[in-house]
Amino acid sequence: MNSIEPNILIVEDEPPLVELISYNLEKAGFQSRIARDGEEAMLAIEEQQPDLVLLDWMLPYVSGIEICRRIRRNPDTRDLPIIILTARGEEDDRIRGLDAGADDYVVKPFSPSELIARVRTVLRRTRPAFDKDLLTYADISMDLSSHRVTRADAAVELGPTEFRLLRFLMEHPARVFSREQLLDSVWGHDTYIEPRTVDVHIRRLRKAMNLPGTVDLIRTVRSSGYALEVDGDAAV
Ligand code: CA
Repeated sequence: MNSIEPNILIVEDEPPLVELISYNLEKAGFQSRIARDGEEAMLAIEEQQPDLVLLDWMLPYVSGIEICRRIRRNPDTRDLPIIILTARGEEDDRIRGLDAGADDYVVKPFSPSELIARVRTVLRRTRPAFDKDLLTYADISMDLSSHRVTRADAAVELGPTEFRLLRFLMEHPARVFSREQLLDSVWGHDTYIEPRTVDVHIRRLRKAMNLPGTVDLIRTVRSSGYALEVDGDAAV
């Protein structure tokens, strides 16, 4: 059973560079998807939100900076980490890229290890959950490397789907997610599954997690969805 690896969207129109980047991301333990221009990038992001976007500055049709602005304008993707890939010497571009909301930039040509290091740094800053092998919330702890889950120090047995579901909720505690959002994030957008399937897995997760003497930490928000939260810890 594999843990969920951070998913990186590569937006780049030069095939050899795409190949180099995706090969090295995979080797470093990331998943990647590819978009060859801005339109493809926006569609890919809409389909399934990546954990980080590597965005080439010089793209056909729509420039990298315009994509960056569009990502930042949309409330759903406003916080999506972006690293811009720029050509050497284009100092203005880098400044404009950061102005447009990019989190960092990498100058071409770059070494694969430099790129991977930047990706890790940005993810650590923006999504601290990826930097840890151990997730904890209230009396739940999840060891992502051994796949051990405990509740108040007692071992909990989870199926693979319930594990992924709990992991996602642990990475975003006290936030309400609709069934559709959970489907996209936990199952992926490619699979067609009835939103009601989420209810089935939430029920199994609850049953496994709610050991005697513990409180139910999964809140059902009528007609909205689900949240993992301790009483009074709700996000505003
Ligand atoms: Ca290019």
